Amino acid sequence: MTEHTKTDGLAQLPDMPSPPQVLERSRPRSERMASNKIECNACPVLCQISEGRAGACDRYANAAGVLVRVDPVVLLRKTLASGEADLVPFAARDASGDGVLLAPQDEVFVTGVGASTTYPDYKPAPFIVASRSAGVDMVTVVTEGIFSYCSLKVKIDTDRYLGPEQANVRARGEVVGHVTTAEYGSQMLSLGGVHHLTGGSKKEGRVTVEMMQTLGNKQAVELTIDGGAQIVVQAGRAPIVNGVEEQRMRVGCGSATIGIFAKQFYGQADEVVVVDDHITGVLTEHQAGRCLDMRPSGLKVRGRKSTPGRYFQVANPGTGWGGTDLADPLAIIEGFDPEHAWPGQRLLMVSTTGEHAAWYVLDDALAPRPAEMPDAVSSIVARIGENCEPSVATVLFLGGAGGSLRAGVTDNPVRLTQAIKRALVNVTLGGAPAYVWPGGGITVMADVARMPDNSFGTVPTPAIVAPIEFSMRMDDYRALGGHVEQVRSLAEVLQRGAWHDDGAPTTRRWQRAAAGNPWPLGQPPLLG
Ligand code: SF4
Repeated sequence: MTEHTKTDGLAQLPDMPSPPQVLERSRPRSERMASNKIECNACPVLCQISEGRAGACDRYANAAGVLVRVDPVVLLRKTLASGEADLVPFAARDASGDGVLLAPQDEVFVTGVGASTTYPDYKPAPFIVASRSAGVDMVTVVTEGIFSYCSLKVKIDTDRYLGPEQANVRARGEVVGHVTTAEYGSQMLSLGGVHHLTGGSKKEGRVTVEMMQTLGNKQAVELTIDGGAQIVVQAGRAPIVNGVEEQRMRVGCGSATIGIFAKQFYGQADEVVVVDDHITGVLTEHQAGRCLDMRPSGLKVRGRKSTPGRYFQVANPGTGWGGTDLADPLAIIEGFDPEHAWPGQRLLMVSTTGEHAAWYVLDDALAPRPAEMPDAVSSIVARIGENCEPSVATVLFLGGAGGSLRAGVTDNPVRLTQAIKRALVNVTLGGAPAYVWPGGGITVMADVARMPDNSFGTVPTPAIVAPIEFSMRMDDYRALGGHVEQVRSLAEVLQRGAWHDDGAPTTRRWQRAAAGNPWPLGQPPLLG
């Protein structure tokens, strides 16, 4: 492992002597610490843990005088028969083994879930695993990161108004985030973040980190939005807004809905209004209606006209029709121009999800009168609903790789950053694909639904603990100054566990790789 290869422009490093062993824990801070206690230095809290007890985060324990990581390391396998997912001790502590070393090595991936960490930053990552994938020598650096700078971006597929942009989002009364820019068919929240974790009261930090852990671990949290709704969100589940489970995500804005279904409306209705809090569409005035040569209906809509047939601010936002506060859609109709409107005119009003729809016919005074909706029109309304996807909440974890993460990979962390930016390193979180933000640093984002269950933990600093893995060619790892002296073969890792015994996990658990996730060692350009 001492041969260094110049690879893809990364500067060649001179051979360096092996560093001193760094697994020794420092002497306890308190000289008065009882002799049956050990100090955990896996985070800055430095718990003094009695024999048989766990530390403040429940992640480390004193097992007969030895500091151990209590949760198993999660190992992914491409294929795993049901019932095969066993909890297995590392053979260094129990020589039983489980025969898995016979598994093809490019079918096994060691994740950072339960892997232990590198705090106080100078220790190499607990698992630096060599394996061969598609004939290429690879290495994966595996650790649990302690993220002080991290947040959750939550996308909630709903038309309903959750609250004003920038409004505070609260959990158990504490401010834990805010409403951010709405997106197409979805309301967005930004939750957590360093200001709530560290910049407020102790309680705010504690509630924030607990909320983040719960959401990250795919469980439900209840949130309230100042001046808005009370919601329950859970990754991959329908959001509950003011006690009502959301069903449909809109097919499009009011204008888009007009355009998509214009030809189907043609001949079935004389006018169609798609009510939307953002862009309400009016068919005969809209370009779609004009292209179909539809007769102007004379209908006048309240609100601010953007372009022909497209109106903003027809009502206040709310949980009624199309994300407005409307219970009666006629409230947005100012009237009908007698020069164009005619008695008997057929008017459909419908929301962007088709959940609300009403049919009217103009009387002799050009007033809309409710009437029974024809079957052909009901079918179009049903088709609007059919084109709505199920409403779900999506939770993305966004974190910045700090000291321990980068130093756990290499003595010269900027080279890791540079290699990631040049796509020489594949970053995964619990084996799930991560998007690396452009620009400086290593800011990564991953969908928690694609990560193993219970990937997230906390420490009381407060901060979030999350798995992270860096996979690359062995040559590139050498070139970026990696801790090559701590590289262990996959077989050895599976047999013995972490390279050090201080705070190392004692067990491992097999898990089938999530369907739909790219295999962490198999993505281009790593193997391209
Ligand atoms: S909180 Fe957990 S990681 Fe931090 S010192 Fe205590 S036991 Fe160790």
